[in-house]
Amino acid sequence: MSCTINRVKEELQRIIKDNHPDLHILKKLQEVYDMLNNPDLGFVEWGTEDLHTQAKYYGMYLSEEDAQQALKDMIQHHDCNYGITWDTINSYLDDYAKPITKMICNECGYDPSFKEATNNEDDFPHCPSCGSDDLDPVKE
Ligand SMILES: [Zn+2]
Repeated sequence: MSCTINRVKEELQRIIKDNHPDLHILKKLQEVYDMLNNPDLGFVEWGTEDLHTQAKYYGMYLSEEDAQQALKDMIQHHDCNYGITWDTINSYLDDYAKPITKMICNECGYDPSFKEATNNEDDFPHCPSCGSDDLDPVKE
């Protein structure tokens, strides 16, 4: 997945190149593009997708609303000396996610237990019936 900031820059560049008819808007878009393209700045991006991926890996369920709240909380309270790491994500999962025991395969409909789907600890859960990794937790 490409960073959102790069997609925003590409989109801005496209709009600017197409010469938006409103010159005031065009000027503002160029200013925004220049701010984002400032060589003196760098951006690091974390998203709810990272929280969901990690939750899935550890057999936890995280609602979209909780993922957004956890992300907001994590960004606002991150320690500048350490930044945000996968360990940071994991500690927020402890607060926001709930353990799951049962899953459902979106490919074949099989509903393995979480333990059954994760017999290989180094990998993401897989359907023991068809091998798909497109599994979702079943809320209990
Ligand atoms: Zn399956």
